Amino acid sequence: MNYHQYYSVDVVNGPGTRCTLFVAGCEHQCPGCYNKSTWRVNSGHPFTQEIEDRIIADLQDSRIKRQGLSLSGGDPLHRHNIPAILKLVRRVKAECPEKDIWIWTGYRLDDLNEAQQEIVSYINVLVDGKFVQALYDPGLLWRGSYNQIIHKLR
Ligand code: SF4
Repeated sequence: MNYHQYYSVDVVNGPGTRCTLFVAGCEHQCPGCYNKSTWRVNSGHPFTQEIEDRIIADLQDSRIKRQGLSLSGGDPLHRHNIPAILKLVRRVKAECPEKDIWIWTGYRLDDLNEAQQEIVSYINVLVDGKFVQALYDPGLLWRGSYNQIIHKLR
């Protein structure tokens, strides 16, 4: 998996203070996408063991308390990203059990395949659906267009 940005302290993408990772790879091609540079799976930088370890350490950092981890992109549920994202969410649940995990994806919850569902079984919130420009509203919280749904799973 490749990634584009990692923010160790973020107050914009989800509730509270968070760690946020923007991964590479998206096949949805939504017109009006604000993140086109992330579409190619080999864009950005390799997501190394070092970055994964850093995310865990940042979530465990008691000096700046994080509420959780946000995974966006690109699309964390793109087939190319499944192994690395599954490994990451499993680690967060095992090593930082009190932290919540939010994922933004262009796929719809009802349409997820088995591998994608396995990832979702570890997370707290899935914001799903493609971005639809005609349904865009800058006033929406944590989503771009009305069709996208914030699923609070657990
Ligand atoms: S799902 Fe997100 S990153 Fe992918 S094309 Fe749509 S708006 Fe862009």
